[in-house]
Amino acid sequence: MNVELILLALAPVFVLCIGIEAWYWRRRNPGMYSLKDTASNATLALMHQGADKLAWLLIVPFYAWLYDHYRIYTMPAGWVGFVLLFVVQDFLYYVFHRASHRIRWLWAAHVVHHSSERLNLSTAFRQSLMYPVAGMWLFWTPMALIGFTPVQIVGVVLLNLAFQFFVHTQAIPKLGWLEYVLNTPSIHRAHHARNPRYIDRNYAGVLVIWDRMFGSYVEESEAEPCEFGIVDQIRTHNPITLTFHEWRTMARDVVAMKGWRNKGMALFGPPEWRHAWQAAQLTQLAAGQTAMPSEGGLPGTAKRVGSVNVSQKTL
Ligand SMILES: [Zn+2]
Ligand SMILES: [Zn+2]
Repeated sequence: MNVELILLALAPVFVLCIGIEAWYWRRRNPGMYSLKDTASNATLALMHQGADKLAWLLIVPFYAWLYDHYRIYTMPAGWVGFVLLFVVQDFLYYVFHRASHRIRWLWAAHVVHHSSERLNLSTAFRQSLMYPVAGMWLFWTPMALIGFTPVQIVGVVLLNLAFQFFVHTQAIPKLGWLEYVLNTPSIHRAHHARNPRYIDRNYAGVLVIWDRMFGSYVEESEAEPCEFGIVDQIRTHNPITLTFHEWRTMARDVVAMKGWRNKGMALFGPPEWRHAWQAAQLTQLAAGQTAMPSEGGLPGTAKRVGSVNVSQKTL
């Protein structure tokens, strides 16, 4: 089997699970699924899959070139090699995911996954075709350098994503001791929540040990139920708008902001940095100076607010 087709091969399993979950919720909580939201998620999944297949055509030869010419070791075959492959990639996924929340260039792609106010298994489908442009593939390049073949790299990246499909549900409660080891539905619900206590926490792919080791773990609390989505919600089901809104806002900011430092921060600073900049502009304005922010957004008060102005315009 072509390893790049793992997710497509598993698609029937995913669709079946979505059907079962939607059936489970139909009386208990009919609002859990909406046809428009699910259709939007499915369309985004197909767009993402298409872009991913194209990207692998370029990236796999690049990994092969690195592996052939610059690897410092050749990983052993068998179980030891597989365990190393899995652990190394899962750690790099943690790094990628954390960077995706804290660097706006990467957040512009990742925001798509977070922009639904629902959380169900179909939310796992909600991905951006811009990941290859943002540079997700860069995060796996160390694996080629330490001696994993391109097939191993692509295979384990996709298996990691396949696992993550199953944590996008509200139907499964906490899972006891597994909460200390694996990324579970409860842990990932907290990741998708926009309540301040949950923001930028729980970046795990498969193993939650990375969050616990690096201080980014938060437990889902019954006292504070998760509110899903991004802080300033973009309320559209249009897959094109969902895919590109943050890129568009970011490009406008780069043009509008004066000075290379500001432009650099607009691209690679934290997603909420633009609001600090806007606040500074408004302060200057209030002080009688002439500098004006190019857009009329008010300063944000929390993270993940990069989409606020566009979301208001595209309602
Ligand atoms: Zn995330
Ligand atoms: Zn997710």
